[in-house]
Amino acid sequence: MSRKIIAGNWKMNLHLKEGADLISATNSYLNQNPVEHIDVVVAPPAYQLVQSSQLSGNVKLSVSAQNMAAQDNGAFTGELSASMVKDAGAELVIIGHSERREIFGEQDDLLKQKLHKAIDSGLYPIFCVGESLEQRKNGEHFKHIENQLKAGLSDFSSEQLPNIIVAYEPIWAIGTGETASPEQAQEMHAFIRKFLGSHFSAAVADEVSILYGGSVKPGNAKDLFGQPDIDGGLIGGASIKAESFIELIKIGEEVLR
Ligand code: PEP
Repeated sequence: MSRKIIAGNWKMNLHLKEGADLISATNSYLNQNPVEHIDVVVAPPAYQLVQSSQLSGNVKLSVSAQNMAAQDNGAFTGELSASMVKDAGAELVIIGHSERREIFGEQDDLLKQKLHKAIDSGLYPIFCVGESLEQRKNGEHFKHIENQLKAGLSDFSSEQLPNIIVAYEPIWAIGTGETASPEQAQEMHAFIRKFLGSHFSAAVADEVSILYGGSVKPGNAKDLFGQPDIDGGLIGGASIKAESFIELIKIGEEVLR
């Protein structure tokens, strides 16, 4: 069975003190209200990874980087290697977020290298896939997601694959306030699981966590998380305020199975 996960992607938001306050609030909530069914993840800006890891004492609260380099070390100004991410105390890393793909031009080949580097280094990658509004309007969304999945995942073994978390994040729903309907999200999640089943095995497909991301908030989370193939959320805007993030943790614990 797949891990159920509530993950917060802070993007380039929150300074040291705000980050510390948010982790402390989440940590103390989890200490007072132990969760059984979900894992909670926070992905702060890179310079807060150490602080966040040190403050996240609860075993159910893990830290993720938002990105990392494909290389091990050397002349790569501005980059962070997988071993540095681990050294900072993070256990996960987001790979291929649409903002990395669209704004920073990260292409399938590079993302595949990053995914392999993450797995080889013992990090759990959260691999993001998602279509644009135009692709959806043109009916190309399934093909596009299939291509992204093939490009990123094809060379992994069935033993490695359950360590990769897939996040379906339709670009048109990220930070726009527009959410995929629970039916649209479920349809794509089922498609992704079917892809994993046919390229690996039904057992592997069942073990991989598939998160939904795109304007998830307390008001729509119950319906989204209640879908059979949705294993949790990768959450941007609603994850940077303790109140809404904790509310999402509550809903996740209640609904995700
Ligand atoms: C994200 O950053 O991955 C995301 C889904 O953002 P938001 O929840 O703000 O749409």
